Amino acid sequence: MGEFDLIKRYFMDPALQRKQAGVDLGIGDDCALLAPAPGMQLAISSDMLVEGRHFLSTVNPEALGHKALAVNLSDLAACGAKPVAFTLALSMPRVDEAWLEGFSRGLFALADEHSCTLIGGDTTAGPLNICITVFGHVPTGQALLRSSAKAGDDIYVSGLPGQARLALEVFRGNISLSESDFALTRSRMERPTPRVALGQALRGIASSAIDVSDGLLGDLGHILKASSVGAEIDLYAIDSIAARAISMPAAGQFDSKFLREMVLAGGDDYELVFTAPTEHSEAVQTAAQMSHTQVTCIGQTSSEPGLRLREADGHIAPNSFASFDHFKS
Ligand code: ADP
Ligand code: MG
Repeated sequence: MGEFDLIKRYFMDPALQRKQAGVDLGIGDDCALLAPAPGMQLAISSDMLVEGRHFLSTVNPEALGHKALAVNLSDLAACGAKPVAFTLALSMPRVDEAWLEGFSRGLFALADEHSCTLIGGDTTAGPLNICITVFGHVPTGQALLRSSAKAGDDIYVSGLPGQARLALEVFRGNISLSESDFALTRSRMERPTPRVALGQALRGIASSAIDVSDGLLGDLGHILKASSVGAEIDLYAIDSIAARAISMPAAGQFDSKFLREMVLAGGDDYELVFTAPTEHSEAVQTAAQMSHTQVTCIGQTSSEPGLRLREADGHIAPNSFASFDHFKS
């Protein structure tokens, strides 16, 4: 099958070529044409998934299609942007139709859910590598940035970070989980939910936001640095996330240090970490309810630089939780 037949068969779903607000021209010409509505800024982000680095060759292609787009939509969510369109640059060793069929099914299921149209890309032979660029709309000046947290803001995280990492520990043979906990955590790792509705609902409420790809503390650290503030994290809140991440009897077989590490340093969850002034705490809960996403307050920012972990009795525990860095590991 030639390159163009391949694009037509797997990436030009006629249903998705429908007219979408903000997209004047999709696949087929040299460029796609986007037309942001007046008063909107275009939010743009790219993420690349490389075989052997971000996923294994054995991963289900449908889950991979989902994840490749999900990690990109997560960046739009972290900016409070509404998804509009995306491009797909794909290199693969050979044309494997079963793989392409599964991959495009997973990709388009999530694209459809968010009315995000595939408007172009590039296809070439090479090692399996998937690069997606997403385009979204955000009202001018309202994007959630990393740089605008203020000392004294509350710090929140969505969902149950740590679940993806727990599944990874099972795959690595380090721990075992019950069948149902493994199924749950594995689906968080392989099919993360980008918090797109929550991100948009937090516009005008959150003071800063980031999505968690490399670990909660590490990614929160980017907010702290960009905003020139420090933070205190409440370990009882972290323990409460761990207790909800897997079922209680299972949680009981791990020590609390291990579970804290899963929550604080485990990556790949694509949850949102954000800050909000205390007077917005009710608005945060409303945004969470409206977007059907649980959020947990895990601490406060402070004018004292650095990040401190606070035990329930108030004493400060050492921070030994490292997050993931592609060039360090
Ligand atoms: P060019 O050579 O001008 O870059 P291509 O031959 O690479 O164009 O692509 C032809 C059309 O197909 C373009 O509109 C391009 O955006 C689109 N396209 C190529 N690969 C993909 C893909 N993997 N997914 C979606 N659209 C694609
Ligand atoms: Mg090309």
